[in-house]
Amino acid sequence: RTVYVNGEYLPEAEATVSIFDRGFLMADGVYEVTSVLGGKLLDFDGHFARLERSLRELDMACPVTKDELLAIHRELVAQNGIDEGMVYLQVTRGNPGDRDFSFPDPATTPSTLVLFTQSKPGLADNPTAKTGIKVISIEDIRWGRRDIKTVQLLYPSMGKMMAKKAGCDDAWMVEDGFVTEGTSNNAYIVKGGRIITRNLGTDILHGITRAAVLRMAAEAQMEIEERPFSVAEAQAADEAFFTSASAFVLPVVEIDGEAVGTGAPGPVAARLREIYLDESRKTAV
Ligand code: PLP
Repeated sequence: RTVYVNGEYLPEAEATVSIFDRGFLMADGVYEVTSVLGGKLLDFDGHFARLERSLRELDMACPVTKDELLAIHRELVAQNGIDEGMVYLQVTRGNPGDRDFSFPDPATTPSTLVLFTQSKPGLADNPTAKTGIKVISIEDIRWGRRDIKTVQLLYPSMGKMMAKKAGCDDAWMVEDGFVTEGTSNNAYIVKGGRIITRNLGTDILHGITRAAVLRMAAEAQMEIEERPFSVAEAQAADEAFFTSASAFVLPVVEIDGEAVGTGAPGPVAARLREIYLDESRKTAV
């Protein structure tokens, strides 16, 4: 694989980042994941806008322009021959040459920008869309700025492991009795034809797929309610599903051992997946 590090395209074995990089020592960095279908990027504008916002919230400058970043994405997709897959990008506060809690001066410590691709043949034809996934619920003990897409992913990784240990696929996190989101996705339920998903705030990531799916659902005259819901309400719903850039829309058929609806994937999730994939392919860059 060819990867990108601070202005250079390199074979992955030759790409290096300092041990003093603040991404490594402090998880002081942000990331984005953009899907590729048919060799083209989905929702690139949305991912770039959120990257800029994450950086702004952490007092970091964006090291590249939007056009430059698009060109880097495209170059990696081309060099690595990605038809279906992902482009991962990460910006950290760079290498100050030592370990210190204070932020370094950006004039002398430039940020570190890294990108790589992941090939995922069959990404759009995921058989899980037909079977759905099972989730457990766990307490959400992450920090209070989940709207910033930081590389601090230890608790979501632990949640994923807890789910696997319980024979499930993912964990939905719960705070004050209400579901916040999945370990790497936004959570939804459907009741009486109405799509219910937690409202935006600092307690969840503002999913780019969430924004696109809600816009497309509204265009298709589907009813949407943005508010928190509990695990009990989700278990009693007609359907549950989740969205993310790398999985699009996938059904959730079981929560903490209780079947949701009929226990099989529902029509609303299936329709949204189809609409999202159709529309996104058309607008991909
Ligand atoms: N919530 C969390 C915690 C995530 O990590 C992600 C994606 O990685 C999402 C939601 C979904 O966001 P997007 O649709 O932008 O991928």
